[in-house]
Amino acid sequence: DVRHGPILYLEDVSVSFDGFKAIDNLNLTIDDGELRCIIGPNGAGKTTMMDIITGKTRPDSGRVWFGSRHDLLTMNEPEIASLGIGRKFQKPTVFEALSVFENLELAMSADKRVLPTLTARMNGEIRSRIDEVLEMTGLVELRQRLAGILSHGQKQWLEIGMLLMQRPRLLLVDEPVAGMTEQEMERTAALLTGLAGKQSVVVVEHDMGFVRSIARQVTVLHQGSVLAEGSMDQVQNDPRVIEVYLGE
Ligand code: ADP
Repeated sequence: DVRHGPILYLEDVSVSFDGFKAIDNLNLTIDDGELRCIIGPNGAGKTTMMDIITGKTRPDSGRVWFGSRHDLLTMNEPEIASLGIGRKFQKPTVFEALSVFENLELAMSADKRVLPTLTARMNGEIRSRIDEVLEMTGLVELRQRLAGILSHGQKQWLEIGMLLMQRPRLLLVDEPVAGMTEQEMERTAALLTGLAGKQSVVVVEHDMGFVRSIARQVTVLHQGSVLAEGSMDQVQNDPRVIEVYLGE
């Protein structure tokens, strides 16, 4: 059944910067609907891996597939994004002078597939999608608030919401809870775990408590390749992982 097969597939991927191997024979498979956490010390290659998936960085060798049909190495960044791969960077970038609602509306109309046919019917669809996304992100009460005066956590949820407007199949999220309060972290955990199943989510995160609270499957990167993979308990008790983290 293809729906439960891998949605993202990296095989023997390598890339060097000035002779330094940032990604070194990386193999990674993300299943459809999975929520995966990627951890690893600074310089492990986490950001470079995300850049390769989104087409920002081209690997020197290897293969990257999305679904069973899309060879991502033949596509550029906008083409890859249009397959339904959304990326959330660490710093929130919302339109501060617009309301929460308007931010979500804009995130949808920025989609070139919708813009030429922005009919009344489409408008209705956008509105119902906005309602769904407000619900998913817990921002229903704040729909009219200016994005500029939201809390840090609320801005992060709004930006995830903006990505969700276009119903991505794979969401890449970079350090979502950096700078968040404990309470905001709990809500972010609920949001991300709620998304899994409907789309695949890959989270790069440093906060181990947060990783434990959301991830069923954790991948540890080190020196550009996979050092360990498994449940949080499995990887945390892996002697190689302990050595890498103690040595940081
Ligand atoms: P992480 O996100 O896990 O901290 P990165 O992917 O940012 O790791 O970096 C992996 C390694 O590659 C680091 O040693 C970094 O200095 C190096 N690197 C990343 N991008 C570049 C680049 N554009 N030019 C040169 N070196 C880079």
